[in-house]
Amino acid sequence: MNYFSLNNKNHKVSFKQAVINGLAPDKGLYFPDNITSLPTTFFENIENSSNEEIAFEAIKQFVGDEIPEIILKQIIAETLCFDFPCVKVEDNVYSLELFHGPTMAFKDVGARFMSRCMGYFNQNSEEKNTVLVATSGDTGGAVASGFLGVKNVEVIILYPSGKVSDIQERQLTTLGKNIKALEVNGVFDDCQDMVKNAFLDKTLKHKNLTSANSINIARWLPQMFYIFFAYKQLKKHNKPILLSCPSGNFGNICAGILAKRLGLPIAHFVASTNANDTVPRFLENGNYEPKPSVVTISNAMDVGNPSNFVRIQELYNHDLAAFEKDFSSYSFTDAETEFAIKDIYYRTNYIAEPHGAVGYLGLEKEMEKKPESIGVFLETAHPIKFLDIVEPLLNNKLPIPKQIESVLNKEKVRTKIATYEDLKEFLLRN
Ligand SMILES: *Cc1c(COP(=O)(O)O)cnc(C)c1O
Repeated sequence: MNYFSLNNKNHKVSFKQAVINGLAPDKGLYFPDNITSLPTTFFENIENSSNEEIAFEAIKQFVGDEIPEIILKQIIAETLCFDFPCVKVEDNVYSLELFHGPTMAFKDVGARFMSRCMGYFNQNSEEKNTVLVATSGDTGGAVASGFLGVKNVEVIILYPSGKVSDIQERQLTTLGKNIKALEVNGVFDDCQDMVKNAFLDKTLKHKNLTSANSINIARWLPQMFYIFFAYKQLKKHNKPILLSCPSGNFGNICAGILAKRLGLPIAHFVASTNANDTVPRFLENGNYEPKPSVVTISNAMDVGNPSNFVRIQELYNHDLAAFEKDFSSYSFTDAETEFAIKDIYYRTNYIAEPHGAVGYLGLEKEMEKKPESIGVFLETAHPIKFLDIVEPLLNNKLPIPKQIESVLNKEKVRTKIATYEDLKEFLLRN
């Protein structure tokens, strides 16, 4: 399968090259050259297929012959080593829990898939790749865990000092081996700027830098898997399915739209955002006007210019009418989100964390217009990862899951940096 740059359709590369580059040299996102629907019989019989079989069918055309079938199946099995239950919250409303993986965030799926693809491509190579990521919290932990021990891949994670939770910090500073953490004296945007500078720095070319956010197709494409799993679990209700994704960089919702393009019967998509409302504003007035991000309690979605939105526009051929038929987007304040966490808990006993609660709110709003539907929102992280917010609201202590317990007493190892020069020196030294 070839991928073209969304900045220049004539610039085409293989799956392997797209994974290794991350972003095209002209800074465009890669997009598959061809998308072929799956046969309707596959969806008719989906409940008879295992998650691994479903994932293989969903992704095989996007990998093509660049990874042998047997290895791709093994990569999928290692990626999907946990459950994706659709849990009933109330009548016609389900939570697709994506937090049962090693770092308890959905990003485990993409990070595990991407790391194993890179490991395969690098197995006989003398060259090393360096994955450089800036994180506001969840990405760092998932990437650290996913890439741990992958041959010929060095991982360097930048995080803002004092701005990630203690659990999140431990998840990215305690693993060792090929994972290195840099504590940046600054905010997330400073980390992101340093990473961008490094990608542009010609004197670092020999480091083969790549990223591991949903810009990379090997992190984005496997995010389709669990949208298929949601359908497999909800199909029996025989109702149109509404999917609400709490959205930051719009990777999940974009993967859901790609799944629909493959034939997955999702009736309508809702992109639920916090105060970072670039897309809801676009749907209201037709102008795409990104703004600097603002800080909220659902901080993994504090994104002012969602990177995957261009892929969504491409999926709809830039046809606004077709797009609006399938897609709604709503923004919610922190106060509304906090109220929802309490309201969901006291009415249904279900514990949502801030991102899931934003997803719930968007779903609720769309269900008012489409009451004959069945709705599902993504619960993108485990509440324990946002315990500072959730525990006081519910006046309740959350039990610590075993995945989290295992990092709590390990020693944090990180290097403190303050400037781009510090980062560059670190990269050249390591
Ligand atoms: C990354 C993240 C999101 C945002 O997902 P996108 O696919 O970038 O829209 C939502 N919730 C949590 C907990 C996250 O870590």
